[in-house]
Amino acid sequence: MKIAIEITYLVSSILFIMGIKNLSSPKTARKGNLYAAIGMFLAIAVTLLDQQVMTYEWIIIGALIGSIVGWLLAIKTPMTGMPQMVGMLNGFGGGASLLVALSEYYKKNPNYPVDFGLPFNLPVHEGAAIILSLLIGGVTFTGSMIAFGKLQGIVTGKVVKYPLQHPFNALLLLFVVVAGVFVVLNPSLMSLVLIITLVSLVLGVLLVLPIGGADMPVAISLLNSYSGLAGSMTGFILGNNELIIAGALVGASGIILTNIMCKAMNRSLMNVVLGGWATAGSSGPAAASTTSPKGDVKSIDSEELAMLLDSVSSVVIVPGYGMAVGQAQHAVRDLANILEKKGIKVRFAIHPVAGRMPGHMNVLLAEAQVPYDKLLSMEDINDDFANTDVVIVIGANDVVNPAARHDQSSPIYGMPILNVDYAKTVIINKRSMNVGYAGIDNELFYYPNALMYFGDSKDAISKLVTEIKNL
Ligand code: NDP
Repeated sequence: MKIAIEITYLVSSILFIMGIKNLSSPKTARKGNLYAAIGMFLAIAVTLLDQQVMTYEWIIIGALIGSIVGWLLAIKTPMTGMPQMVGMLNGFGGGASLLVALSEYYKKNPNYPVDFGLPFNLPVHEGAAIILSLLIGGVTFTGSMIAFGKLQGIVTGKVVKYPLQHPFNALLLLFVVVAGVFVVLNPSLMSLVLIITLVSLVLGVLLVLPIGGADMPVAISLLNSYSGLAGSMTGFILGNNELIIAGALVGASGIILTNIMCKAMNRSLMNVVLGGWATAGSSGPAAASTTSPKGDVKSIDSEELAMLLDSVSSVVIVPGYGMAVGQAQHAVRDLANILEKKGIKVRFAIHPVAGRMPGHMNVLLAEAQVPYDKLLSMEDINDDFANTDVVIVIGANDVVNPAARHDQSSPIYGMPILNVDYAKTVIINKRSMNVGYAGIDNELFYYPNALMYFGDSKDAISKLVTEIKNL
């Protein structure tokens, strides 16, 4: 039986790896999801067959409650609330690792529950895995809850600073490490294990609280990576190879995603993690640029825009957060289709951090059945804008703000952007002159080749499609 379980674990680990590989492209993402789901099903099924499982009642109760809560959350959470939902799920992963580590610590004591304080032997690697699981699991749990609270508006989204914040956090971390060494050397120090747990939980709060709301999605991606590490540590405690591999995969992919997001937002990981130390102006909404662009704004209505589009040969559509808010993806697809029918070359330009989570625009456009080969990444499309007749920006703001290229006082200075202003004409659809996520005005709106097309994205694009049909 043991051999069969280990072989199934190996097969499911291979399925996880194939799943992640396929998830890296929109074309194969569904297949990847399926591979990973089959891998997870096999892993759970075979674990339940393990002889060590004495009774199934609690497992069934837990699985039922978890499935119902998960199902409700998935149904109720809007696409724009995904980052906080992911944050919360990471937190539960960390919390589960912490609970398993604690219970295994108790179970491994042969004197439990009588004479718990008597010395007993715990292999060094198991003791170390328990302490690391408590530390990483605790930090992940409370850190993720604070991250959830910040994105949900329950906890302040501002950068929270207090005196000696970083030395104090470093001291707490040092305490956990030193106390952990004591526990590994003398496993019967039960109260110290509980103190380590408590300090780790406090550390999670203190580490995430200073991080500004603007950096929170990056922090969530980092916490996702931590939850994988915590799971991996739990795998070492339980001697479960599957958990070690799956946790390591989550840890590694989480850190890669964190790195991609940091690059796309022109932030250094250190700058995000240290939150309170972030340079002035680099933490998003709280810190707006002091120099607002001034000038005349020209606007266009749906009829004029339909006429303008009647005489062009190439169009690039740039979706942003406003397309997600207005749920305009289906209308946008209709627009692309009708323009293509007129013989116009239509492509989509996708900025890596457009919207509010990685892949946000890809998911929405895939839902609306826009073919993947029409979606071009920033690197692939940026040189083409100069040869494009019309760019239609739909609810995007920061990712097309030219200040990122030249205004050193701007909070988004250095962030790579889509060079839409190089096109012959840029149409910007949004409801007002309001700012985007970074909280700064956009000089693009005042450029001579820019025309504002005001309105809610779904209404405005639907109206435009109707006008084009009526031509
Ligand atoms: P922005 O947040 O910069 O701008 C969105 C714009 O959409 C707003 O200016 C708003 O203007 C407009 N809008 C809102 N609702 C509607 C609607 N119903 N119809 C039409 N327009 C609407 O979005 P971008 O996508 O350009 O940039 C994303 C920002 O989010 C970047 O700053 C990025 O760094 C940040 N970010 C992205 C993450 C990611 O992983 N994707 C993670 C964390 C942060 P108005 O109110 O006038 O309509």
